[in-house]
Amino acid sequence: MAKLEHIANFIGGQMKPPVSGDYFDTVEPATGKAYARVPDSDARDLEDAVQAAQKAFPAWQSVKRADRAAPLKKLASLIERDMEQFILAESRDNGKPVSLCRAVDIPRGIANLRAYADAASTFGGQDYDSPALKSYTLRQPYGVVATISPWNLPLLLFTWKFAPALASGNCVIAKPSEVTPMTAYMLSALVNEAGFPPGVFNVLHGKGAKIGAAITEHPDIPAISFTGGTATGTTIYKGASARLKKVSLELGGKNPTVVFDDANFDEAVEGAKTAAFANQGQVCLCGSRLFVQDSIYDRFRDALIKKTEAIKLGDPSDKDTQHGATVSAEHMQKILCYIALARDEGGTILTGGRRRILPGRCKDGYFIEPTVIENLPHTCRTNQEEIFGPVVTLMRFTDEAEAVAMANGTQYGLAASIWTGDDARARRMAAQLETGIVWINCWNRRDDLRTPFGGYKKSGVGREGTYDSMAFFTQQKTVSMPK
Ligand code: NAD
Repeated sequence: MAKLEHIANFIGGQMKPPVSGDYFDTVEPATGKAYARVPDSDARDLEDAVQAAQKAFPAWQSVKRADRAAPLKKLASLIERDMEQFILAESRDNGKPVSLCRAVDIPRGIANLRAYADAASTFGGQDYDSPALKSYTLRQPYGVVATISPWNLPLLLFTWKFAPALASGNCVIAKPSEVTPMTAYMLSALVNEAGFPPGVFNVLHGKGAKIGAAITEHPDIPAISFTGGTATGTTIYKGASARLKKVSLELGGKNPTVVFDDANFDEAVEGAKTAAFANQGQVCLCGSRLFVQDSIYDRFRDALIKKTEAIKLGDPSDKDTQHGATVSAEHMQKILCYIALARDEGGTILTGGRRRILPGRCKDGYFIEPTVIENLPHTCRTNQEEIFGPVVTLMRFTDEAEAVAMANGTQYGLAASIWTGDDARARRMAAQLETGIVWINCWNRRDDLRTPFGGYKKSGVGREGTYDSMAFFTQQKTVSMPK
């Protein structure tokens, strides 16, 4: 058997093996086969990275804001130059179709770097003028900060997290998910060429419970930006609060899609399908609970089943594939357990509901059919817990008040989408929904990065986006003088 590639940490401008010498496998979800080895980093690697970052900080924080943008822009151009390798690597590592990596993951990762390169020079303090006093604020970086990101949009969320930290003058220790480390590793190999001074940007690979926990506990990392599950976020919040660290938490969701009978029918079916199954249902924003008004329920259900069955499931490396593999054997089992639970709770599987075995190279891959379920109460576990897979449940409602009550009836509050032809109703509902984001007659549309992003309730703490992320990674100082 060919020797598997060994991924390295990137510390102080150098590729480094983990101090322990220990690695674990990373697996290609489409084939179920290990294809690379990941450093099992620990507190010693972290210490090395913290020291490198501390050494780099005084010079990096005094670089002119506009000049901090240059290496971010160069990094974006280098990824663009190597676009094809990044697309193939992301698809292989995560199981998502190459078409999705080409359309979303890699271009959006590049766009993140450019957006925060621009923000480096436009974001700053404010002036305040009163009759007797003149004041202004400074926005100053913390020093060494950390980012921890998940596997569902590996490069996109990795860049989303670290770019504002660098743009605002911090030195960074970035930890990608151990499940999908490859594009972060490839990116780290471009950091010197992009022109970042050694130690400004460091990447540590490894398991959440080991290196992630060490980051949370480290006394010299005062701010952590985390995206991942609510349970992990809660653990990080506890550890961080004991040390008075600042945290931004972007967590799980159980998002409602609400369709009224006056909606544009075809657009609503298409939108609800995309919201349910994009990225194999592995987007925190996915609409996994679908509420449809009584009067159109049967027709909507039939149209949704037809569209769902037309989704092309297959080898992610095939350019026509629309639905690839779920990310790991463990995650596939979790999703299948939830489908079994839905049956136990009395649900009817309308389509899908099984693992799909493909012929040839993907015969051991982790494929799950897009699944539509009905006849479950909105209070059951299937409708309350985040499944994070290609599973959507259909429920009926009679009027707006019932739709709002059911949509709000979970511990989560990340996003919602409403489909209706009545603008006043849409705005009324948007105000009542307990979610950080509401889409009206669309799903997952962003105004670049400018609009605030984040969750109500157990979907998060804080907001991210151009201004909000730059604000998170800086502390404000007020300077006042008499006139
Ligand atoms: P996860 O919480 O298991 O892992 C996320 C990251 O946290 C990984 O890098 C992991 O190694 C690390 N980690 C795990 N345990 C840790 C610990 N004890 N201390 C510190 N770090 C630790 O999440 P996942 O399975 O990778 O991602 C899926 C979840 O992420 C879903 O719940 C999804 O909704 C959520 N998500 C949220 C958003 C958002 O913006 N709100 C975006 C994408 C994904």
